[in-house]
Amino acid sequence: MSPSGGATGAGLPMVDPADPSVKPLAYTADASQVVAAENPKYQPGQACSNCALYAGKPADAAGPCPLFAGRQVAAKAWCNAYVKKTG
Ligand code: SF4
Repeated sequence: MSPSGGATGAGLPMVDPADPSVKPLAYTADASQVVAAENPKYQPGQACSNCALYAGKPADAAGPCPLFAGRQVAAKAWCNAYVKKTG
């Protein structure tokens, strides 16, 4: 489960979706599990790995996100602050 070798956020704990401070953002560790009815902003295909705020490398399984300081988010995760990466 942990990212291997050289990830920017390697060693940081993963965001815990059950953390009360995380719940308002509706962080979901697997974007394919997002409940669309509860998260109207979600569109299939969206994930941390293609979010403008994601600071992980493309090949990493997880990386830092400024919304979750000191932790890292899964590349395939999603939250309702998602911003589509451009360019
Ligand atoms: Fe993932 Fe973007 Fe939400 Fe951060 S802001 S958790 S990178 S979807």
